[in-house]
Amino acid sequence: MTGQNASESDAVPRACVIGWPVEHSRSPLIHEWWLKELGLPGRYEKRAVPPGELREFLLSLPRSGRRGCNVTVPHKEAAFRILRDAGAVIHDAARRLAAVNTVWLEGDRLHADNTDVHGFMANFRAHCPDWRPREHGNVLVVGAGGAARAVVAAFLEAGAENVTVANRTVEKAERLAEDLGPGVTAIPFDDAAGRLPETDVLVNATTLGMEGRPPLPLDIAALPAHAIVADIVYVPLRTPLLAAAAARGLRTVEGLGMLLHQAVPGFEKWFGRRPRVTEALYRHLAADLE
Ligand code: NAP
Repeated sequence: MTGQNASESDAVPRACVIGWPVEHSRSPLIHEWWLKELGLPGRYEKRAVPPGELREFLLSLPRSGRRGCNVTVPHKEAAFRILRDAGAVIHDAARRLAAVNTVWLEGDRLHADNTDVHGFMANFRAHCPDWRPREHGNVLVVGAGGAARAVVAAFLEAGAENVTVANRTVEKAERLAEDLGPGVTAIPFDDAAGRLPETDVLVNATTLGMEGRPPLPLDIAALPAHAIVADIVYVPLRTPLLAAAAARGLRTVEGLGMLLHQAVPGFEKWFGRRPRVTEALYRHLAADLE
């Protein structure tokens, strides 16, 4: 990138989301909303970056005129390795998950973090402020991909003592449990139903329930009446799992709030103000999704 871009950035702070593909990303809607709400100059755009160009893109950020970027599928793990090997400052959550979703500059130094951990728990606490990890700390997370890792890390950080990860490919759940440390138990997906009677919080972190995919094949009739059911899928907003939980009168937490909350730290780094996740922003995104 050129000096021309750098001088442009002095006037208008810029950031972007990179992915391959990236058209589906809703991040521009969130950041543009906050820029307008706070009356700040700034631009946030989408950039399609193929895997072969990821390294060059990240390492040229200090010369690009951008203040940083979000990193989405499929680049989160590769971005971690590239930035770590290049001597960037890797913050705790990114190190723990070996995946990066937010990159910013401090001076010329690249910093990287994974704000999905914060995003999940901030949203969960916003919906369930009375949740106490010591009293209701039996958490069952279904799925063992990148997003499940963030969810498990969030519960461990919050103080949950007994997190079970159920996954179709049980080896992936076992690796997750090894990587994230004691307090995590791996089980095959088919054993999840048997754990429901002692589950306080159930989280779907698979891709099941997404538009165009089958629903999560888990009958939640055996969950206790105080159980909370969260889904991190946000298209549709109300997944079949959440609908079933609501029909049973259980408390539910939708996935869109996680997306909104994970965007807060990046915005603050790039544009200098900490934005708020409001009902109006939620409705703005929900309308777009619907
Ligand atoms: P991923 O790494 O591809 O993991 C997908 C997970 O779904 C794996 O555990 C996989 O099991 C499981 N799965 C897929 N098809 C299945 C099936 N037919 N039966 C049983 N399990 C199945 O994906 P990810 O990046 O973790 O994302 C997962 C979901 O979270 C996506 O829907 C994504 O949009 C959402 N997400 C939401 C947010 C948010 O802000 N709300 C943030 C990140 C991600 P196997 O290991 O056996 O394949």
